Amino acid sequence: MWSNLVNKDCVFCRIVDGVIPAVKIYETQDILAFFDTLPAAKGHCLVIPKGHYESIDFVPDNIISSIFILAKKIVRLQKKIFNINDVNLLQNNGREAGQTVFHMHLHIIPRFKNDNVNLSWKENAYENDNEILTIANKMKEGL
Ligand code: 5GP
Ligand code: ZN
Repeated sequence: MWSNLVNKDCVFCRIVDGVIPAVKIYETQDILAFFDTLPAAKGHCLVIPKGHYESIDFVPDNIISSIFILAKKIVRLQKKIFNINDVNLLQNNGREAGQTVFHMHLHIIPRFKNDNVNLSWKENAYENDNEILTIANKMKEGL
């Protein structure tokens, strides 16, 4: 139950509670979708767990599943409503990753030609093949 996982200083918990207004488009007992207040594009949505989990790695698997199933529906709708083919899903975890609201959320951003939304990066190459394999092996062992 999400209600015992509330952070009173968290803006998204306050949106869940209805203390701060938001343009809400869908909710269940566990998740909520609403419009971003500073949208990168028209129809920019955020999908969140109702419980206060700081980042994706703390969110229970069944709730992550629900979030992504809803995201798929929202992507389909955005394509239809805006007559577009392109949408970004973006999910920042931690300050270095650009997270500014520390309540897990998934951005769903419709993309339009020449929309000035910039999500690009420059390559940060590995030192050598050995470094790639060492990291890959550690990840394989953990999965
Ligand atoms: P982050 O940078 O953490 O991935 O994204 C946080 C997002 O939350 C930003 O896009 C920001 O515009 C949005 N946001 C911050 N405060 C509010 C708010 O009070 N209401 C709504 N609807 N969105 C917010
Ligand atoms: Zn919260």
